[in-house]
Amino acid sequence: MHHMQFHHHGYVSGEPRIQEAAGIGLNRPEELPAQMDVLIVGTGPAGMVAAAQLAQYPDVHTRIIERRPGRLVLGQADGIQARSVETFQCFGFAERIINEAYRITETAFWNPDPEHPGHIVRTGRTSDDAHGISEFPHLIVNQARVLDYFAEFARRSPARTVPDYGYEFVTLEVQQDEEYPVLVTLRRTEGEAEGEEFTVRAKYVFGGDGAASRVRKAIGRRLEGDSANHAWGVMDVLSETDFPDIRTKCIIHSDAGSILHIPREGGFLTRIYVDLGEVPEGGSKAIRATPFEDVVKKLNEIIHPYTLEVKDVPWHSIYEVGHRVTDKFDDVPVEETGSRIPRVFIGGDACHTHSAKAGQGMNVSMQDGWNIAWKLGQVLSGRAAESLLDTYSAERQSVAVDLINFDKEWSTLMATKTEQFSKPHEIEEFYVKTAEFPAGFMTEYSEGQLTGGTEHQALASGYPIGKRFKAAPVIRRCDALPTQLGHQAFADGRYRIYVFADREAPGADSRTERLAEWLGSSPESPILKFTPEGEDFGARFEVDVVYQQRYTEFEFTDAHPTFRPKTGEFGVRDYYRVYSAGTITDINFPERAGEEPDIFDLRGISRDGAIVIVRPDQYVANILPLDAREELTEFFGRSMLPQR
Ligand SMILES: Cc1cc2nc3c(=O)[nH]c(=O)nc-3n(C[C@H](O)[C@H](O)[C@H](O)COP(=O)(O)OP(=O)(O)OC[C@H]3O[C@@H](n4cnc5c(N)ncnc54)[C@H](O)[C@@H]3O)c2cc1C
Repeated sequence: MHHMQFHHHGYVSGEPRIQEAAGIGLNRPEELPAQMDVLIVGTGPAGMVAAAQLAQYPDVHTRIIERRPGRLVLGQADGIQARSVETFQCFGFAERIINEAYRITETAFWNPDPEHPGHIVRTGRTSDDAHGISEFPHLIVNQARVLDYFAEFARRSPARTVPDYGYEFVTLEVQQDEEYPVLVTLRRTEGEAEGEEFTVRAKYVFGGDGAASRVRKAIGRRLEGDSANHAWGVMDVLSETDFPDIRTKCIIHSDAGSILHIPREGGFLTRIYVDLGEVPEGGSKAIRATPFEDVVKKLNEIIHPYTLEVKDVPWHSIYEVGHRVTDKFDDVPVEETGSRIPRVFIGGDACHTHSAKAGQGMNVSMQDGWNIAWKLGQVLSGRAAESLLDTYSAERQSVAVDLINFDKEWSTLMATKTEQFSKPHEIEEFYVKTAEFPAGFMTEYSEGQLTGGTEHQALASGYPIGKRFKAAPVIRRCDALPTQLGHQAFADGRYRIYVFADREAPGADSRTERLAEWLGSSPESPILKFTPEGEDFGARFEVDVVYQQRYTEFEFTDAHPTFRPKTGEFGVRDYYRVYSAGTITDINFPERAGEEPDIFDLRGISRDGAIVIVRPDQYVANILPLDAREELTEFFGRSMLPQR
């Protein structure tokens, strides 16, 4: 059920984004209980996304603890790549957050002025997404706000999850044979019983507890990598300045040092990173003790002849970070993988850290949290086998390694002079790569339990298997809404099966029609096989069809009933699953209908049709021909459990 679909159980008066409570959400204990299915440690981006996604599985009791007494107020990361905005769309708040964010359109470069030694001068500017990699913008908005939106989503979801503030994770022990195998020691950090230690039990623990993670220590893992950290004097400031690029993202190099300058949301505030150089691992006391005034002094030396006078400093910090990653993101030793179920997972800064320059920390952490959460949701709601959980570390650890390698390569290439490149197109290739990577779209999962092989990739060449499903324009047939397929997906923990129809008219005998008939009626249909008797057809899978015909050439009622499934207690039909390939031009300028490339052209989809399977976290899981039957069921059967 899409987030803006409601009234299907009867009339909803009031805020429709508050979903009906279900499962644990009907009677959720206010106090932290002694036993729970999932314990998430830390309300950073990794933990909060995980809590939000799991709140869509109301038969799973999830708790999320945080040692602070309340929400994050300010500070930390603020760079939001396009992939994260795409994620926000799926969680229903992209529009609202875009509206309050700063939008990066270009980066300006400032360097020493050869004519005026000691002065900086603007030497160039580059567009932020010249290659049109995403329809989503690159934003700056504080981490605290991102967390607020995910917290709101969790609270409004059927499980009604809210963070338990004031609890600190101390340690844990896994006792394999217990029903709730993870014994966790916690400590209260506030209230009358402050300092008191007690234990709780969980089936699974997710540590999103940051770079100094105790969950990581408890499972005996270490961050390995650089022996040195890079230090930055970071500040959020209101200022009086004559620097003309104060509202533009800048990279400034001068003889006095370097600055990464990022305008902040709201129009007045700016975030300035003053480079303080390399420091030994574990940090340097001297650097950490750098007085704020010294950082401001250095800043003024770097931007000479301009000046910047600080008027207010809501936040400043000395931020030290190095490139580091753990060898595995769960508690099962590498050599024992597959022999037992992982019970404890780590994500975000707890298992990978990298430079602030590429601004990846919060973004990659959110994808970690999303990845583990839907898998835990599938397993704990009885949909999938526990072996699904092995894929978390396998998928995300390699993403972290790629990120660290990329971050290093990027820094080196950025420092390379144009004439030193070996081939002229190397720079161009590098720019395309450097656009797609920091935007968050280079993740590509490899073939396995969750990702199909490339046998049928040619049927939809623009949807690389293992990469995220890139949206493209379509028209929803029933109401002629021009939209993007992909933007209509909601983070409800369901798989999506997109059926791109063959050439035949909707309703006429065709491979599409026969597929729909089989999906809706055969006991071998994955949808029936993996959905319990009595649940809606769309309870665990969403099936959408995209016809090649223009929207004026058919009625949505021509589509097979499988594409208009009954939903809710009144069994009303879901009208939103039928699309036409087309664009807004088809609606506004009928005489030019069909002139623009449609989704089939844009994504290289065969006019003979194709099935594209998309995971709950938007990655393309597999591509199959329209007459695939056994292959389709076999694919889902690799992780899902038969329900009837
Ligand atoms: C002080 C600071 C400044 C930063 N500045 C920048 C920056 O300028 N630019 C940038 O790109 N990135 C910055 N980062 C990194 C960026 O914020 C992280 O990459 C991102 O937040 C990682 O998300 P996470 O969910 O893994 O962890 P975090 O956001 O670190 O969240 C971890 C959470 O766990 C809680 N926690 C920790 N230990 C326990 C425990 N034992 N029990 C209970 N709760 C616990 C913490 O209070 C915190 O809320 C900064 C991080 C920090 C900590």
